[in-house]
Amino acid sequence: MGKEVRVRFAPSPTGDLHVGNIRTALFDWAYARHTGGTFIFRIEDTDTTRVTDEYIQAAIDTLKWLGLNWDEGPEVGGPNGPYLQSQRLGIYAEWAQKFLDQKDAYYCYCTPVELEARREAQRAANVAPGYDGQCRDLTDAQIADYKGQGREAVVRMRMPDGSTTFTDEIRGEVTFDHKFVPDFVLVRGDGSPLYTLAVAVDDVMMKVSHVLRGEDLLTNTARQLHLQQCLGYQTPSYLHLPLVTNDAGEKLSKQTKATAVDIANPESIQVSLSRAANHLGLKNDPFGGSISQWLNRKVKEWRERHSI
Ligand SMILES: [Zn+2]
Repeated sequence: MGKEVRVRFAPSPTGDLHVGNIRTALFDWAYARHTGGTFIFRIEDTDTTRVTDEYIQAAIDTLKWLGLNWDEGPEVGGPNGPYLQSQRLGIYAEWAQKFLDQKDAYYCYCTPVELEARREAQRAANVAPGYDGQCRDLTDAQIADYKGQGREAVVRMRMPDGSTTFTDEIRGEVTFDHKFVPDFVLVRGDGSPLYTLAVAVDDVMMKVSHVLRGEDLLTNTARQLHLQQCLGYQTPSYLHLPLVTNDAGEKLSKQTKATAVDIANPESIQVSLSRAANHLGLKNDPFGGSISQWLNRKVKEWRERHSI
């Protein structure tokens, strides 16, 4: 590796933290502590309709209770802040403008109804559904016409032909054919950034060296790498962790109440930590048994404190 380790735990608190979140936080924290690196805690709260102040506070409290102290983030600050994405909107807008200036992105005037109709046609023709590039090379006259109709424009990233290959430090070499990575939206019509943009920007600006996250985000990696590379930044290493499953091998979703971590509810913590420990014990755990032991100790400690 040889580079300074900077990892980030970046939940989007739309509810209590989920056991999968906790598992990722543990990996990040342990990796930072093991290597003498930096553990960054970032809150992804650009979805203001779903993220509440209460959930943000609950996420902070949960990490504190677990003893996963962070070096940069809410409450402690740091040189790469602010650490709440809702306070970084100007930074995302600057990046979007650079992509537009470089012609790596363009304004797309398609309406949701038009997009859906075209996706429907793609499905009928057995073509992978995705943006078809209609607004890639609009003429000035076409743009004037759309504006005259009062249409709102989104900023859409242009994915070049070809493919993206990167080395995932858990899975090895991964390649995405861009045929399956259509041009994607960076900024909504109302000016708000999408997750893919905000994450790519923050990982670079916060100098993150290793991105540890669930494998459900693997398909997003080609987009994020492209965004970072278009502006000439060094990209972080990626490690996609298998999703946490229950004993039957089923994926645990955010909606599964039993897997949420609610610090006011000891049973939820016990279940979640046991689940995470169990999972870490079963999968390749780069930290040996130490994290599992630590988790078991935490569960025991909680049991003792609450006589359960
Ligand atoms: Zn369009």
